Amino acid sequence: MNSRRDFLQKAGISTLAISLPFSEALSAIHLEREDKVLRVAIMGLGSYGTRVAEAMKDCKRAKLVGVISGTPSKIEAWQQKYGIPAKNCYNYENYHLIKDNPDIDAVYVITPNSLHKPHSIGVAKAGKHVICEKPMALNAEEGREMIAACKAAGVHLLVGYRMHFEAKTLEVVKMQRAGEFGKTLFFQGLSGFMIGDPTQWRLNRDLAGGGSMMDIGVYSINGARYMLGEEPIWVTAQEVKTDPVKFKQGVDETITFQMGFPSGAVASCLSTYSMNNLDKFFLNGTKGFAEMQPSTGYGPIQAKTNKGPIEADHVTHQTTQMDEMAAIILDGKKPIIPVDGEEGLKDLVIVDAIYEAVRTGARISLI
Ligand code: NAD
Repeated sequence: MNSRRDFLQKAGISTLAISLPFSEALSAIHLEREDKVLRVAIMGLGSYGTRVAEAMKDCKRAKLVGVISGTPSKIEAWQQKYGIPAKNCYNYENYHLIKDNPDIDAVYVITPNSLHKPHSIGVAKAGKHVICEKPMALNAEEGREMIAACKAAGVHLLVGYRMHFEAKTLEVVKMQRAGEFGKTLFFQGLSGFMIGDPTQWRLNRDLAGGGSMMDIGVYSINGARYMLGEEPIWVTAQEVKTDPVKFKQGVDETITFQMGFPSGAVASCLSTYSMNNLDKFFLNGTKGFAEMQPSTGYGPIQAKTNKGPIEADHVTHQTTQMDEMAAIILDGKKPIIPVDGEEGLKDLVIVDAIYEAVRTGARISLI
């Protein structure tokens, strides 16, 4: 083998590239590599957007290449920090122009909850794949509109469910699916933290769509579904409010809720903005149990079962998430636990039912 062919093959270049003159082969190398990386713009350069950007530095399949923000000074700072070219910077008035930008494949929507729907639909209309933060929308109706818009535009809609790629979570899920805990009949999900600044958007119903349930309670809803491996058929819920000044009408402070599943399993969950260190999943079956604490924080996640602790290296959740999402979008990879719009919608249907149960005191059927 001649040395050029040897070099190209070692570099993993296709026979197409090998048959090209050397300079063209190098550009084919470039193209092939570029083609395998999801080029992402982040919309909403706040605290979580920053966390995702930092985590993406270690991604192998996803790259931060653009930003959408209403604050010019933030755009400038991000350009410096992440080497983002001016042609990939947009604001909320002109981001529809992203449709003419061939260097951006997907937009990660990380804005306040009530903006997820309009922003995601705007991105879909611009022909770019949508990755949207949780909760996907304020309610199931909005979620359905987002799914329809992404379908019509022929783009993916993925929800930022980082736990669906976390190693210890996946091990517990694998054990549950393999029947290692026997018939799983009980799940407990505790999700909460003490919220600070009363003026923040999370305590503004118009922007948050509710209170703790929209923000942190969704982890227990989602966790109950992936830990038990089935969909609930009924919901009951109760609200407790100790501070009606901070938690105004329509902004829930604490909600306890229960879900019933077709197998006979039940889930008992708590969502709160008034207690810290509340981040625990417990799954019990006829033959064993799994306990995770912390269960959905940024980690490291701790998990043990009746057989002992689950060991796995901690990898920054958002790094794994973005690499896996690139594989879903670029290679059609099927994740073990779905992260698509339909998955987001299932949680929103339950959120709607929980709020209805709080309002009416009734047991809400989901079938
Ligand atoms: P944040 O307040 O830190 O950031 C929100 C960003 O949106 C800010 O940069 C803000 O300027 C921008 N924005 C655009 N339009 C706005 C408007 N009209 N009003 C207010 N802000 C506006 O919030 P965050 O903590 O980054 O949360 C953003 C989203 O990410 C939320 O949906 C939240 O649920 C989600 N989130 C997910 C995780 C996770 O682990 N998956 C963690 C934190 C937050």
